[in-house]
Amino acid sequence: MRIFTATLVTETNTFSPIPTGREAFNRRMQQPDVASMALWRETAERDGHVVVESIVAIAQPAGPTGRAVYEELRDELIADLKNALPVDVVLLYLHGAMVAQGYDDCEGDVLERCRRIAGELTVIGAELDLHAHLTPQMLASANAIVLYKEYPHVDIVDRARDLYRICLDAASGRIRPVSATFDCNAIGLWPTTAQPMRSFVDDMSARERDGILSVSLVHGFPYGDVPSAGAKMLAIADGDHGLAKDVAESFGRRFLELRDEALLRVMPLGEALDVVANATEGPIVLADVADNAGGGAPGDSTFVLRALLERGIRNVVTGTYYDPIAVDTCFEAGEGAAIDLRFGGKLGKASGQPIDARVEVRALLEAHQQDYMDDSRPARLGRSAWIHADGIDIVLASVRTQVFAPNAFTGLGIALEDKRAVVVKSSHHFWRKFAPLARRVIHVGAPGALSPDFASIDYRKRDLRYWPRVS
Ligand SMILES: [Zn+2]
Repeated sequence: MRIFTATLVTETNTFSPIPTGREAFNRRMQQPDVASMALWRETAERDGHVVVESIVAIAQPAGPTGRAVYEELRDELIADLKNALPVDVVLLYLHGAMVAQGYDDCEGDVLERCRRIAGELTVIGAELDLHAHLTPQMLASANAIVLYKEYPHVDIVDRARDLYRICLDAASGRIRPVSATFDCNAIGLWPTTAQPMRSFVDDMSARERDGILSVSLVHGFPYGDVPSAGAKMLAIADGDHGLAKDVAESFGRRFLELRDEALLRVMPLGEALDVVANATEGPIVLADVADNAGGGAPGDSTFVLRALLERGIRNVVTGTYYDPIAVDTCFEAGEGAAIDLRFGGKLGKASGQPIDARVEVRALLEAHQQDYMDDSRPARLGRSAWIHADGIDIVLASVRTQVFAPNAFTGLGIALEDKRAVVVKSSHHFWRKFAPLARRVIHVGAPGALSPDFASIDYRKRDLRYWPRVS
């Protein structure tokens, strides 16, 4: 068989003032995140198939992608597909919450064009992040859509394998995938590391037998203002639409029962700092959920740091702050220098005000990196600096990204075990690597770009009758 593969991934926070342009895709392409495409290539070649690979385009989440940038990437993918014809299978690694100027549903647009070019007989499959807006256009154009089940996303390769199996079996005529959805009409974030979500995920996997090919919970992405935003259940059955519908509905109704209990809970900033100030043993890991660059936040907000400084809480480490200008200043000053530095608080209102402090430059790294949440690859932090001010160790980086792993700090020489608190900019992807060293993990509700107050998101395109805005 001939199999065509491509990657086009970004998660669009339509409320973010940071534009996603050509440079955002270029930057990430220097170190492509292609675990799924690599799996498809290796498996297909092992099975004796021919693989034709198209673009790998990935950008860190931010605001909408520029129209011309999106159209250029899409048209390149479609031109590659045209040149590769005839193909039996198209496998796309997409996000599912990409918005471009003029396009609320980039993935639906890409899938529809692929269908038009490849024809009705080609099997088209897409792997999506669970923070996706699953749209009617995507469902109508693809034969099979498989989403990650885990948040943090540690099952990207496993789900790529599921999609491969379903699509290859469909192309060879062994199965006929039919999909059904159930709208849960809810907006939120639901980590799968704790109950009741843990069992829910395990039960989805366990149900993938007896005519059911795949079960996914589409968590939705709260910060994308599009008509389809929100949680849904998706089930794929072999030929039996009624069965797919029943399974989607029964899991969907079960999710309605647990969505409140399973919702990511945050502690108000003042209360969280009380816990840190009164702790006798550390480290307490605080997640600055609102400034998670992985959800399109600026990654340079200073609300938590300012509160720590004002309260005089010492022996804390925090990062990473996206501030290439401050990093360059530290490099000019050199390791060991004490300088007056202005840093953070630059990209927009959600960043807060910059911090002005007398800092000591403790360490500098030209090409700093951290582990990714699933160990599949390192994640770049770029030129980075460890600075120290008033008992607080701060990591400044030149790549806008969330914190996934402790070596974002330890890689510069900062010890974590003896700290009172470690403050990471991340919503939940930090969890797997930090929970083992944390005395306690607290998700903090500080001001910033990603408000965890899901009832108050300022939607204009999405219908406002959703949970938890209405019960
Ligand atoms: Zn996600």
